[in-house]
Amino acid sequence: MLIEEYDLEVSTPPCEPGAERFSAVARLKTDIREVLPYLNATLRGAVYNAAVPALTWKKGGHNIAFHPYQIAVSNVEDRQAAIKEVEGLIKLVNRTWERRDEIEPDYETHRRPTSMEVYKLLPRTNCKACGEATCFVFANKLVAGHVKLEACTTLQEPQYAAQLAQLADMLAVDLPAIGPKK
Ligand code: SF4
Repeated sequence: MLIEEYDLEVSTPPCEPGAERFSAVARLKTDIREVLPYLNATLRGAVYNAAVPALTWKKGGHNIAFHPYQIAVSNVEDRQAAIKEVEGLIKLVNRTWERRDEIEPDYETHRRPTSMEVYKLLPRTNCKACGEATCFVFANKLVAGHVKLEACTTLQEPQYAAQLAQLADMLAVDLPAIGPKK
């Protein structure tokens, strides 16, 4: 097992009325930098930076960062959920490390799409069916991982099938949920 011991810290960011979110950080006793290219190969939408080294990933609207001695998750709705997320990430690291002989490590940095690139593939009707004022607001939130692609119900119409597939690929999501590569 790669990670056997860690200290867990849970905190809230500076007060934002009505928008309190939680963060959890696991401070590790072990250097996990060697597992990062294996996670990069298996986690859809992960961004690996070999120079730092660090790997960032968005999962279910949460922001996740793996560093040599630290795993952090932010933008979680409550304290218990933040603890559960970080514990799940530790299990993920350990499982990936145990399977490393079966995985081709990926040392490349995969760029995230920009809001404009995403916007250009949306229906651009500003119909508000997603609950956002405009398609561009939705694109911004999509890139930040704060909304899911399926919230754009207009995009589910048959004439947008190609754009939907392109967006799912660009954002590295499995409709309807974000998850590890199969
Ligand atoms: S539902 Fe889709 S098309 Fe309508 S405003 Fe939202 S992003 Fe734009």
